[in-house]
Amino acid sequence: MEGPRKCRKCLLAELDNEKLLADVRAAVDRLDDSMKVPSEEYEARLEVCRGCDYLNEGTCGACGCYVELRAAAKTGKCPYRKW
Ligand code: SF4
Repeated sequence: MEGPRKCRKCLLAELDNEKLLADVRAAVDRLDDSMKVPSEEYEARLEVCRGCDYLNEGTCGACGCYVELRAAAKTGKCPYRKW
């Protein structure tokens, strides 16, 4: 029997997984501001991930990272150089 359909194209912020989202956001908050990209760039990166076939429940299927954490860091890179 088929279970409930899960969205595979969501960011953590769009999933019902409050603890995981809180942990990822806490990890982003722990980054020094000098290590973070500006908020506009962060949102632009996440928008690219939203449209990417590799996005799977908040993780990147290409590298396994939580995209909302990776995208926040200046040193963070998309493994396919989409951002
Ligand atoms: S980091 Fe790159 S490959 Fe991974 S989900 Fe985002 S855009 Fe896609």
